[in-house]
Amino acid sequence: MALALAWATWMPAQAWALALNETSPHRINLFNEIEILEDRSGLMTLEQVSAPEQKALFKRPVASGGELNLGFSSSTFWIKLPLWRSADSVDYWLLVVANSLIDEIDLFMPGQPPIFSGAARPITQRPVFNRHFLFPLKVPTTEQTVFIRVRSSGALAIPLTLWRPIPFGQSNIISTLLQGLYQGGLLTILTYNFLVYLTLRDRRYLLYSAYSLSLCAAMIAANGYGRLFLWPGWAGFDRISLNMFFSLAGASAVAFSSAFLNLQTRLPRLHRSLKFMVGAQLVFALLFLVAGSLAWSVTPIIRGHLILSVVMVGLVISASVHLLRRGFTDIRFFLLSWGVLGVGVLVAVAHAFGLLPSNLLTANAIQIASAAEMMLLALALADQIREEREHSIRQQRLAIEQLRQAESRLEATVQERTKELQTALNQETQLREQQVRFAAMISHEFRNPLAIIDGQLTLLTKEHERGIDRLDKRASIIEGAVRRLTAMFDRWLESTRLNRSPKDLDRRLLDLVPWLHRQMQTNAFRLSAHKPVLDVHHPQLLVWADEYLLEIALGNLLDNAAKYSSPGSEIRIETRARDGWVGIAVIDQGQGIAEHHRDSVFKEYLRVAPEGPVRGLGLGLSIAKDIVDAHNGRLELISRIGQGSDFCCWLPAAAPSDETIPR
Ligand code: ADP
Repeated sequence: MALALAWATWMPAQAWALALNETSPHRINLFNEIEILEDRSGLMTLEQVSAPEQKALFKRPVASGGELNLGFSSSTFWIKLPLWRSADSVDYWLLVVANSLIDEIDLFMPGQPPIFSGAARPITQRPVFNRHFLFPLKVPTTEQTVFIRVRSSGALAIPLTLWRPIPFGQSNIISTLLQGLYQGGLLTILTYNFLVYLTLRDRRYLLYSAYSLSLCAAMIAANGYGRLFLWPGWAGFDRISLNMFFSLAGASAVAFSSAFLNLQTRLPRLHRSLKFMVGAQLVFALLFLVAGSLAWSVTPIIRGHLILSVVMVGLVISASVHLLRRGFTDIRFFLLSWGVLGVGVLVAVAHAFGLLPSNLLTANAIQIASAAEMMLLALALADQIREEREHSIRQQRLAIEQLRQAESRLEATVQERTKELQTALNQETQLREQQVRFAAMISHEFRNPLAIIDGQLTLLTKEHERGIDRLDKRASIIEGAVRRLTAMFDRWLESTRLNRSPKDLDRRLLDLVPWLHRQMQTNAFRLSAHKPVLDVHHPQLLVWADEYLLEIALGNLLDNAAKYSSPGSEIRIETRARDGWVGIAVIDQGQGIAEHHRDSVFKEYLRVAPEGPVRGLGLGLSIAKDIVDAHNGRLELISRIGQGSDFCCWLPAAAPSDETIPR
């Protein structure tokens, strides 16, 4: 009562009575028409309170507008309403107490049987089947005093109004429709979110559905429909249903918030506190149920629960503010929704304790705030899902980009490795080809020194028969041929053993002029059937050359000139010099080489006329070309069918001052 007094001051009763006439409004707020007596013992009877000596104990609440709100109290209250009507006015009125949760509310009207109604009493005792407490009054034309006795374990908000029956019927239908809309909205949200949960299996949607369900149940308990239709015979449960469902709503709302804000990873300490809150809310739900079943007084439990709820809302709001400060912008709507609920809870608590006057807003603060909160939470959830989706899309894009980069790096590496492998393979193939060519060259070249030895021995025999002594000359030529053979073997063995190619030249500075004169002698046997001519135009022709290989190349060209031209025809060996190049040309007057064969004749094993009378392996020119190439030179061919061929080995000219071997 002390709290109620903070809001209302009490005035001594004075003579007055509510007069009803034709001009009276359809709905009359009785707040200003009543007097109240507090019976702390709860034992006073109608006779006692209506006794004239008690008149002075009745007091009149003064507060402009609003409704009667006495807060929590264990006292019994007697409300006195004197009234009468004019003769022209309707006699039938409805006294309406628009609160479904008053435990006991009894009406005493002189000349009529008392009506014992209230949430703690059977529904069948209500004079009118309605979610609120309705009392039909037959108002006499003489002043009568109606006494209303009220007692409740819950908050004593007693909105008393007097209605004309027809307008009340209309207003009742409208309020029923609005309640239906409200519950329908909650049920839609509940169903939708539960279906979303079934599809996404996201725990937040399940907790949100649980929250909607318990809030929906709490609202059904609060508006009186639960008692009318769901638990009509269970007055004990009706006393605690609202609080029990609110406890469950609190538990699911906190669990949802914790999951929504991801407190487990972001703010573990607050997460533990909220977990405790969930447990506490569930304990309160259980307490209410037990209290309802055992008919305990629920007033202290309700007070405790209200305090817990305020702390709970405060904790959730402070967690949200904390996270918002840390840059988690996806909780804006969430914070707003809890802010709205926070205001609603504060108003409701203040109203329940009698700190705020009772009116449409304060009496329905929880209902209005929770509806707004529900909407905002749905928005918050959608907003969070959108942010998460965007975040995961960004992550996906980043991962794809990283994958692409890794892929291109891998591709580049693979390309590089492939290139390296290809190069190594090419080198290996080249080396192999060179070795094979070198072996072929060696075997091909075996025949030449052997032919020289053979020729010299034949000449020696003939000369001996004729008594000519040229033993020294023949021996030296044979010796030279044997040396070549030995050198060839040496090089071949060396090449095979070391895997070296013929390009590993043994270069020395060589003057081609005296060298060619010597070659004319060495190769005389090759040109014995022809007219050899050495045409040297230059006093000195210096090159860096492997003398032995150059000899092989020249020998091959001379062999070919002899092979592919008629005996007796001229074979000219000529020196040339041009732009830093030095040339040795072998010119015959033989059959020549067709234009389209001029490149292919340098390939290994290629012969223009393999079936022709001239024997060969098709290696001579390729060996000669390899040797010239190895000297960084080029083998040039000029030829005309029927007129002869001109093979010229061009080598880079060297100066007498050259000291280093070119590579
Ligand atoms: P071989 O002489 O053992 O056949 P070569 O590689 O020395 O192998 O010559 C390849 C081919 O080039 C010969 O088969 C021949 O048809 C042609 N050729 C080479 N030299 C001449 C030349 N001086 N005149 C005409 N044809 C030639």
